[in-house]
Amino acid sequence: MGSEQRSARNFFAGLALDRSASWRRHAGRGEIDLDPGHALCFFISERGEILLAQDHGLVTAASTEELTVDAERRLALGTVEGRVILALVVDDSGRDRCITEQRHWVDLRLAAQSLPVAEAGYAAYARALVHWHQRHRYCGRCGAPTRIEDGGHRRRCTQDACAMEQFPRLDPAIIVLVEHQGRVLLGRQPSWPPRRYSVLAGFVEPGESLEDALRREVLEESGVQVVECDYHSSQPWPFPASLMLGFTARAEADALSYGDELEHAAWFSADELRDAVQAGAIRLPPPLSLSARLLEDWYRERCGRDSAEILPSGDRWG
Ligand SMILES: [Zn+2]
Repeated sequence: MGSEQRSARNFFAGLALDRSASWRRHAGRGEIDLDPGHALCFFISERGEILLAQDHGLVTAASTEELTVDAERRLALGTVEGRVILALVVDDSGRDRCITEQRHWVDLRLAAQSLPVAEAGYAAYARALVHWHQRHRYCGRCGAPTRIEDGGHRRRCTQDACAMEQFPRLDPAIIVLVEHQGRVLLGRQPSWPPRRYSVLAGFVEPGESLEDALRREVLEESGVQVVECDYHSSQPWPFPASLMLGFTARAEADALSYGDELEHAAWFSADELRDAVQAGAIRLPPPLSLSARLLEDWYRERCGRDSAEILPSGDRWG
C-alpha cells in the first residue's frame, strides 16, 4: 500500500471535495444555491463544536429554517458531485439559542464517532477554518481589523494602505513510530489520561526539514538516536490547527533517557504490547488518530498480527 492509499484511510482525510477557487469567490458573495437538494449546510460554533440532532447526525439548514447566518459567516468548503458543502458559523450569542431537546452542540472528537466519515471530514475542515478566523481578526502588520473573503479562505486588512492578505494557517507536526529490533517505542506525557501511551510527536520548527524535526523530537523526548525514517501518511488534525505527518523510523540503540516532556517511555515487542493493552496496564491512542493507525499498521504488517488485538476495529478502519 502506498502513502496515498494510507493517507486516504486516515480519519478526516481523503475528502472527495472540489475546492475550486472561483467557486469559493461566488460562495463568499452569497451567490450560491442553498436549496437542500443542492447543498449540505451544517452548523459549527465559534468554539469549534458541531450541532447534532438527537440521532447524532448533522443538523442542517434545511431542517432548521430559523437558523440563518449572513454570508460573512458562511464557510464554503467545496462541492461534491455538484452538491455544495457549507459550514455556517454560529457566534456565542446565537450558540445557546440553537440548543433544544432535539439538537445540541458536540465537540468534534465526539461528533466524529457518530458522523458518516465524509461528514466528519467536513466538520474537521470547518473546525480548522473557524479556529483560524477566530485568531486573525486583526492585521498582524498594522493592527487594523481584517475582513473575511473568498468564502472563508482569506482575510484581508481593512486599512487600504496595508490591505495585507492572510490565508488559513496549519501547524505541521511529525508523528513517528520508532522501532528497534522488533520493538516499538511508546511514551506518555504527564498531562495525558492515566495509562495512556503513544508514539512520539512534535511540531516542526522554522528551518527544519521533516526529517530534522523527527530526529530532534525523538532525541529530545527519549534520548534515542534515529538512523533512518520513512514517510507513512498524513492526517488533518484540527485540534486546533495541525497537519500530522506520519513516519516510521529505526533507532540506532535502545537506551532511553527522557526528561521533562515525557513522564515515562518504554520499548514494547508485539507480544508485550498486546499483553499490556489486554491487562489494562496501558491505553493506546484514540482510534481516530494517526498514532493509532501507525501502531495498527506496525502490528499487522511488521509483526503479522491481527491489529484488533491491540486496537478496536470497525468500518472506519476499513
Ligand atoms: Zn494591515
